[in-house]
Amino acid sequence: MNIEELKNDLEAEKFLFDIGVLKINEVCPYCESTEIYSIRRNHFKCKSCRREWSKYNGTIFKDIRIKPLKFVKIIHELSKGSLIKRISEDLEVSYNTVLKIKTLILKRLLKKLFNIDEVKSLFSVGIEINENGIDLNYVENINLEELSTLKNEKIGRLYIFKNYDIYDLYIVFSEKIIKSLEKNSVKLNLKDVRVELRMLLKNISEKVSKGKITNVDTLLFTLVQTHFINYHGNDKLFYLFLEILKHK
Ligand SMILES: [Zn+2]
Repeated sequence: MNIEELKNDLEAEKFLFDIGVLKINEVCPYCESTEIYSIRRNHFKCKSCRREWSKYNGTIFKDIRIKPLKFVKIIHELSKGSLIKRISEDLEVSYNTVLKIKTLILKRLLKKLFNIDEVKSLFSVGIEINENGIDLNYVENINLEELSTLKNEKIGRLYIFKNYDIYDLYIVFSEKIIKSLEKNSVKLNLKDVRVELRMLLKNISEKVSKGKITNVDTLLFTLVQTHFINYHGNDKLFYLFLEILKHK
């Protein structure tokens, strides 16, 4: 499916129905009668108990009020890594709406990939290259004492350790500066990073130095996103985003 080919809300809505982000429930949610019919746009009515409801009940559009075409376009832009401000301006959608969608995606993504409900103010991600590809592991228990004896390379508030423990890269994410690590910090050297991981670090490093990402949530999001795009491509990430938005 080429997103550029979606011309209007009707087509975008059909697309969302086809892939399951929107779902028609053909049963009355009140009395479970199957004799329902559509009344004005977006609403159903039950023949049996006479009650009405929105066809978007139980879908993402219940919480986020946005037209289907813009919604699809926002997800597409987010999967390409576009910034919220830019998306909001280009698509003429409020900053908060885009932020809300991005936050929801992040939350669901973290749950799916790492099985966590929210990120802590201090955590780490261990990156390992193995025969299956690249594994990202979210690690909450950080041995700061041991780490403070090792050299790290720093980008913003990311402390990067090469070949630590079982990991090719081990990245400590922190909301605050960690003094015990700072004393052994040197500038990031991309040359001795395995080629599979070089793009990942390069991209994050560029975004951090441009001041585009600051908080740890966004840093983690960017890491995961960059990894995914490098590995599976933009398109796959777009569909992953849609996939995780399926359930309420
Ligand atoms: Zn009913």
